[in-house]
Amino acid sequence: MPEIKARTVVVTGSTSGIGLGIARAFAAEGANVVINGFGKADEIEVIRRKLEEEGATTALYHPADMTKPDEIGNLIATASDKFGGVDVLINNAGIQHVAKIEEFPPEKWDQLIAILLSSAFHTMRHAIPLMKAKGKGRIINVASAHGLVASPFKSAYVAAKHGIMGLTKTAALELAQSGITVNAICPGFVLTPLVEKQIPDQAREKGISEAQVKDEVMLRLQATKEFVGIEEVAAAALYLASDAARSVTGTHISVDGGWTAQ
Ligand code: NAD
Repeated sequence: MPEIKARTVVVTGSTSGIGLGIARAFAAEGANVVINGFGKADEIEVIRRKLEEEGATTALYHPADMTKPDEIGNLIATASDKFGGVDVLINNAGIQHVAKIEEFPPEKWDQLIAILLSSAFHTMRHAIPLMKAKGKGRIINVASAHGLVASPFKSAYVAAKHGIMGLTKTAALELAQSGITVNAICPGFVLTPLVEKQIPDQAREKGISEAQVKDEVMLRLQATKEFVGIEEVAAAALYLASDAARSVTGTHISVDGGWTAQ
């Protein structure tokens, strides 16, 4: 997809997991990649340098906390100042918290909604004018199968992911005649730190082995009985960012091993 070369791509939550996989895919296409997320400074610098070794024209790290609207504004402004705009915005940062609604800590609810949903509103409100000025752009929201269906004990996550599906469709309609597309990717279970952290907790809570958590809980609805690969999600992002996808807007691509077909 040579048309990605020299484009500027901002990926929130890209120091790990799916976001890092997406950043690597765009780096390999020669883009300017702005990464974001938490982690140790020296480890992030290793990641940043590796992205340039793998093909990024420039890789830049910005530490914006996705719960802080001012810092989010600064992330987009920094990308724009450095590279003259934002061509592809990928809202990906995420965390999880699993508890019954009546036991769900209200501050966790607020944090999940802020990171998984409100941060995308804030990145978009700053990036859209930049994209409009260029007459083109791509916004890709990493949602989830949980943007389409629910699971118990994940109220904030499921609510935020359903919310971002609505935001995706609304933005797509608002921007339909501006050369800007807005879409979501809905992955099933991908073995990233976010998921790996849940395995021992769920094993303890359910009184089963970690292998059983993987097979009987996580992959129960994933018809392929396999975890989704990070590179499969990244490939969907590359497609949505390409010129070939210019008429694909206001929709989602499920990469979920058949989960939501049931
Ligand atoms: P991960 O834990 O590997 O990565 C999450 C990233 O978000 C990290 O870089 C982390 O530092 C960053 N982050 C967390 N809080 C942040 C904050 N306040 N500000 C800025 N960055 C922050 O998780 P992942 O599995 O790669 O998840 C990435 C996205 O994919 C999330 O939106 C998640 O909901 C979604 N998703 C994951 C799966 C899965 O099975 N792993 C499935 C469907 C959707």
